[in-house]
Amino acid sequence: MAVISGVGVSSGRAAGPVVRMPDPVGEPPAGATLPDGADVAAEGARIAAAAEQVRADLERRAAAAHGDGVAVLEATALMAADPTLVTAAQKKLSDGTSAPRAVWDAAAEVQAMLESLGGYMAERARDVADVRDRIVAVLDGRPAPGVPERAEPFVLVAHDLAPADTATLDPATCLALVTEGGGPTSHTAILARALGLPAVVAAAGILDVAEDTVVLVDGGAGTIQPDPPDDVVAQVRAAAARVLTFDGTGRTSDGHRVQLLANVGDPKGAAAAAEAGAEGVGLFRTEFCFLDRAEEPSVDEQVAQYTAVLAPFAGKKVVVRTLDAGADKPLPFLTDASEANPALGVRGYRTAWRHPEVLDHQLEAIARAGEASGAEVWVMAPMISTPAEAADFVARAATFGLATAGVMVEVPALALTPDHLMAKVAFASLGTNDLTQYTMAADRLLGDLAELSDGWQPAVLRLVHLTAEAGLQAERPVGVCGEAAADPALAVVLTGLGVTSLSMTARAIPDVAATLLSVTRAECVRLAELALSAPDAKAARAAVHAELPPLG
Ligand code: PEP
Ligand code: MG
Repeated sequence: MAVISGVGVSSGRAAGPVVRMPDPVGEPPAGATLPDGADVAAEGARIAAAAEQVRADLERRAAAAHGDGVAVLEATALMAADPTLVTAAQKKLSDGTSAPRAVWDAAAEVQAMLESLGGYMAERARDVADVRDRIVAVLDGRPAPGVPERAEPFVLVAHDLAPADTATLDPATCLALVTEGGGPTSHTAILARALGLPAVVAAAGILDVAEDTVVLVDGGAGTIQPDPPDDVVAQVRAAAARVLTFDGTGRTSDGHRVQLLANVGDPKGAAAAAEAGAEGVGLFRTEFCFLDRAEEPSVDEQVAQYTAVLAPFAGKKVVVRTLDAGADKPLPFLTDASEANPALGVRGYRTAWRHPEVLDHQLEAIARAGEASGAEVWVMAPMISTPAEAADFVARAATFGLATAGVMVEVPALALTPDHLMAKVAFASLGTNDLTQYTMAADRLLGDLAELSDGWQPAVLRLVHLTAEAGLQAERPVGVCGEAAADPALAVVLTGLGVTSLSMTARAIPDVAATLLSVTRAECVRLAELALSAPDAKAARAAVHAELPPLG
């Protein structure tokens, strides 16, 4: 079979047999009736037995799971053990409704009842849907929905993955992720990077590869090779068994320093980043602390949250970003849900036009948390479009004693006026996720646009170059904190373009560190020139990979 190409979103290579995500359990046809001669009592017992099987299966899986997956599985098992759904479904059999349809309709009633109670109970409606699907799958003799259980390591292939599918993913057995849909910032991509799994999205044709076919996934090159030679498989497995570590100083082989920092969103992530040896935090997404809030959190609460994130980095740099509310991260107390085009709307720093007090409260809390934790706090604003906005933000931060203030460069207009910008700020950080979205006019959440939403786009790299060059001229640090920084080959290119720090999910740091250590600064510059002059993202990636021995 020919090599399949997609968009590599999490680097690394892995080889293993394909395991397909089962198709979602569809709604049984409305009005489906019991088969001729079926016995209502026996069908009722079948429903009860199916629910019992689901409960036992979920409990067994919860006992074997790790991390966040345990709580998800335990909550679902609890729901399967509740007799309400089974009893309601059994009642529906008496009018001749088929067992799967009876379970489906009964689940709708139970969900409506939970939703009407609101709060915690309403959130459990999701678990009812999961239990319903599992019971219907048992009744129909189909595989259970969700990630299949296998004793042997495998490559997971799916149309796309949803958060619920992946909560129970075990990186010990899942070697790599490949999806036919999805984009570089899809849930699959973010999860794969967080787990350190190689991943390729938008891989057209991957669903035609038969279950159990051995494939070689190259998350850096964005390729999937079915039936690779045995010696290549052996090589890849031997390489995967080597554990990479980071010695705490990002640099090229000739000693050119590039700080390797972590992206974090909560205290747990900060602790993990410190443990991974990150030199500091290059992006603290403060909005992640408050995504479920209807009201602005109090200053004291913010101080407590931020201090918990900053504490593991006492004495080290932590770049705290003010609330980036809007688009895919709405905060009801700041953003307007009725905007037709929220990615281009009042988001990020723009929310301070209407609610300057929210920004002031946050700056006060950041300053207090900096003092309490002993971290070296840098503060930056998201979605800045003009040097004047940057100057306003820096002045505002200064009134709270926050002297090291800068901005994200994620709007092309700002990247195109970098000399004016550098005169106003202490530093800049390139948000390549949004910079790519706005440069390519491609919604970062749409899998169909994955080829455009690619940080390897030469147009994006040219904007990075302009910004980094202006930073070098003005002696202002310019980092990258978008997903591009986590791609080891692209990290080499970004270094060659002149960026001074790279911030990424902590899991990606050892790979990026090892790749940087394999090249000199001059090689970074040469590879950056290759990427800049390529006609498109695919050619840029291929040209650099071909010249980069450890990944090539
Ligand atoms: C970015 O846009 O690249 C970025 C780092 O910010 P976010 O992904 O949170 O929008
Ligand atoms: Mg952004």
